[in-house]
Amino acid sequence: MSDIQSLLALQNDDLVIHDLETRLAALEPRIRELDSRRQRIVDGLDRQGALVSAEEKKQAFLRDKIAEHRALIDRNQAQLDAVKTMRQATAAASQMEQAKKIVAGEESDLLVLNRKLEELRGVLHKLQSDLAACEAEQATARTEVAGERAAIDGDLATAHAKRTVTAEQVPAALRSRYDRIRNKKRVHVLVPLNALACGACDTAIPMQRRHAMMSGTTIELCEVCGVLMYQAV
Ligand SMILES: [Zn+2]
Repeated sequence: MSDIQSLLALQNDDLVIHDLETRLAALEPRIRELDSRRQRIVDGLDRQGALVSAEEKKQAFLRDKIAEHRALIDRNQAQLDAVKTMRQATAAASQMEQAKKIVAGEESDLLVLNRKLEELRGVLHKLQSDLAACEAEQATARTEVAGERAAIDGDLATAHAKRTVTAEQVPAALRSRYDRIRNKKRVHVLVPLNALACGACDTAIPMQRRHAMMSGTTIELCEVCGVLMYQAV
């Protein structure tokens, strides 16, 4: 096999690998899209959960206050029962009135808070079922993407193994020259001449190199775009 043939075979293997890598990369946006759709719901759930627990804290605090003030009323009642003078009775009764007013206010606050919490929890539950629905809906898509990825990974492993064998047929110096050019993100490194011009950038090859190239055995570097050129025979 000539150098050109062996290098073309290597490039063919690399094109197959490049195609597989492109297909693998194309799966990424699909996964990102699935992830971000799910994440939006998770973020909403987090925010709603924080709102609910903040209101729950207020609720617990208010309940404690009400219990405390009710105990105070009970103590006032006991005092009222034990008073000896009219003056003491008036003072105890007015203290109790005040405590009752406070409790009534707190209880109406609690009612408002309870209703608010109910609404917030309703939204939270809605988001929880949204998340479950989203995950169920995405399960198929994710399985599909994972399957495609596994298939491509398998093909890639095969393609790399094949490339290793093909690469051994290319002389080391030529191979490293080719790899250097390819590593600069080039897909097509070895290109055929197109009517005595570089097949990649269309620059005419110098007169003095034409003869050697026309024999179909020489590989030359294009000074303009940096590809390797050969004459297809
Ligand atoms: Zn060129």
